[in-house]
Amino acid sequence: MSEACAPLARPCKVCGNPADLFDVVDFHKNCQGPDVFPLSGVPVYYRRCGTCGFIFTEHFDDWSEADFKSRIYNEDYIKVDADYEEKRPAANTSLIEQVFGADKHRIGVLDYGGGNGGLAAGLRAAGFEDVTTYDPFSPDFSTRPDRQFDLITSFETLEHVPNPVHFATEISGLLADGGLVLFSTLLQPANIAEIRLSWWYAGPRNGHVSLFTAEALGALWHPRGYNVGSLNNGLHAAFRRQPSFGRIKFGAQAAG
Ligand SMILES: [Zn+2]
Repeated sequence: MSEACAPLARPCKVCGNPADLFDVVDFHKNCQGPDVFPLSGVPVYYRRCGTCGFIFTEHFDDWSEADFKSRIYNEDYIKVDADYEEKRPAANTSLIEQVFGADKHRIGVLDYGGGNGGLAAGLRAAGFEDVTTYDPFSPDFSTRPDRQFDLITSFETLEHVPNPVHFATEISGLLADGGLVLFSTLLQPANIAEIRLSWWYAGPRNGHVSLFTAEALGALWHPRGYNVGSLNNGLHAAFRRQPSFGRIKFGAQAAG
């Protein structure tokens, strides 16, 4: 951790093209602001891909799951992600119910990165009959499912993933033929080159290690034969073809 960060360009974790150093922030920088923790003294360097715009850090690449649990997803995590326990699962339950409620008796749903299982519990209460939570960082839900699902939801997960290609590959293996991945992660603002990592969403203490552009989402999913569509700057879907369930027709980019 005390080693200097190599100044030479490194391959983008999504598209493989050169990514130069972009900016550096203190490890304690988080999404709630500078008053939550004092400076840690640990610099965390991020790179930005010159091709797809993906911003990432390699700082945590050699961390084990135990490291993440003890140093990021610990008892202080709630201080930097206040919506984690109740507010976000409730809002997402409502969203899923609106979009997929008509099919709640016939689709299998996996909440990937579902934390405390709040979204799955909410969906079951709303009448969804087949809902599973999978989250490697939650002891109760860390068993990887050995089946496939029609709908995979993954809210505020992708920005936490040090290896997005592994994420997309694993999700792809869990998705049934004709299925849909509905996921959220906030895309970089248009002025990112100006504001750099002063952007509020760039917070290593939140575990935000991977920051996407629309182009980077395409570079992640298109090689797997998926279209990617976005409802807004934060909510996206990946699918090989328009699914036979759900009420949203995404404006898809063509698969490359
Ligand atoms: Zn790239």
